[in-house]
Amino acid sequence: ALTTATASRVNINSFQRMAKRPEHSHKGSHGKLLCIGGNQGTAGAIRLSGEAALRMGAGAVRVYTHHTSVMPISIGRPELMVSAEDLDSALRWASCVVIGPGLGQDDWAQHTFDKVMLFCLAKAIPLVMDADALNLLANSVNHYHLRHTVMTPHPGEAARLLSVSCHAIEANRFYYAKQLATRYAATCVLKGAGTIIDSDAHTWVCEEGSPALAVAGSGDVLTGVIGGLLAQGLDTELAARYGVTLHAKAGSIAAEQSGERGMLASDLFMIIRQLVNCS
Ligand code: AMP
Ligand code: MG
Repeated sequence: ALTTATASRVNINSFQRMAKRPEHSHKGSHGKLLCIGGNQGTAGAIRLSGEAALRMGAGAVRVYTHHTSVMPISIGRPELMVSAEDLDSALRWASCVVIGPGLGQDDWAQHTFDKVMLFCLAKAIPLVMDADALNLLANSVNHYHLRHTVMTPHPGEAARLLSVSCHAIEANRFYYAKQLATRYAATCVLKGAGTIIDSDAHTWVCEEGSPALAVAGSGDVLTGVIGGLLAQGLDTELAARYGVTLHAKAGSIAAEQSGERGMLASDLFMIIRQLVNCS
């Protein structure tokens, strides 16, 4: 059985700092990320992902969302380009894609999911799948081969994908993380205290983190952190490892600063910005 003994432990010091930006770079040099989600009533989830990607240094972030979510997102975060129209041209624009936060599972969500998966897999566009994208994947009759994809389930989402109980996942986290990575040919991030990153070939476990992160929205921030790294050219496996570690470290810094209780997911943004510029 795969245990902690066969996994490499990672912490923030395991990673080289990101290269300095070239003097003459422009926003196009730092990647174009498309974030997809935010059904009626859950606009905040995809806004958190988009904003996290900008704070990580992505050059430009577009959000494709439900028409009722366009106003709240674009007023709340004017740096995001937000639209509920022309998914095709948004997909053609993107260098990488995040899908899932607040996506929902209704007809709009299903239609969006089908279109995005078809496009991204055909064009080998790096993809982060989270939240309801994973629930739709679990319900899909298609067998997806998700090379160039990072999937970020929490134990509940992993349980739905593997048709086992959440309890079973928690009792055997390393085993099930690898099951997901193998089945989908993806990089699997199994979230929770001691987040596991499994690329099928390798397994890592994150030493950073804090229960301050056990709050709504913190997973949406992680999704955007990884998307922001993909935008800047990291491969899926490194983006997953470094993104998980940086996000977890941000959570422990937030806890040191103000305590474990009461952190807002958006409190992570400035800490993330400082970490990506100095770690
Ligand atoms: P989600 O459930 O999608 O909102 O994601 C929650 C995020 O917070 C993930 O990145 C988890 O790894 C992290 N998290 C939740 N609870 C803990 C905990 N007790 N210790 C460390 N990280 C946690
Ligand atoms: Mg989540």
